[in-house]
Amino acid sequence: MRLVFLGPPGAGKGTQASKLAQELGVPHISTGDILRRAIALATPTGVEAKEFVDRGELVPFVIVLRLVQDRLGEDDAANGWILDGFPRNLEQALAFEDLLVRMRSAIDRVLYFDASETVVVSRLTARRTCKGCGAVYHLQFSPPKVAGVCDKCGGTDLEQRSDDQEEAIRNRLRVYASETEPLVGHYRKTGLLREIRAELPPQEVTREVAARLSKG
Ligand code: ADP
Ligand code: AMP
Repeated sequence: MRLVFLGPPGAGKGTQASKLAQELGVPHISTGDILRRAIALATPTGVEAKEFVDRGELVPFVIVLRLVQDRLGEDDAANGWILDGFPRNLEQALAFEDLLVRMRSAIDRVLYFDASETVVVSRLTARRTCKGCGAVYHLQFSPPKVAGVCDKCGGTDLEQRSDDQEEAIRNRLRVYASETEPLVGHYRKTGLLREIRAELPPQEVTREVAARLSKG
């Protein structure tokens, strides 16, 4: 299955994508995760992208497109993928459509994670990510079993993303509203869009995702 997860930062796309990807046996491709890894490793892409990510701006189009193109060309993406955080504006969506035509591929569904600004801000400000394995927690809504220790890898470095600080969050929400939200209408017109009530608790969101994918 070839899926795009669309929605504001903090709507729970990554949380659901990582679960579903495991179930379906397809890679969870998060452009944000790929960029953060490149930044941590200080690769040329990472060095170029860092200032944009830290400020909550979109990373330049050519960088992101090349990164997606390379990742979709890897063996594990041959039978499907979940794209999380891409495309993020109309320019990326149109270039992605061209790329898929060249690859003789197509999107099966776009899941739109709908959540209000108040909800996403409360999720982002208390999000913590394991530095070792990337597992995502929330200090109130889904804390690790032992405070400060990752359930998955036992790591003790649960950090706050640099762009989950208040000013960067505000910027990301502004960028989302002006650049990314118009994609909801774009994909609705194609008939691929399915809406998810992303304000529900995690397990109910998981059930809703399954329901939206099982029906035509
Ligand atoms: P996104 O990938 O859309 O930016 P995440 O999956 O990282 O969002 O989730 C943002 C934060 O909200 C994380 O701290 C996560 O643990 C928490 N979260 C995810 N889904 C839910 C939910 N349904 N209810 C409450 N908190 C959630
Ligand atoms: P995310 O992990 O999806 O919240 O993305 C974190 C940051 O990475 C964003 O605020 C952007 O700076 C950058 N980023 C991720 N995906 C894209 C994309 N498709 N286009 C441009 N920038 C992106």
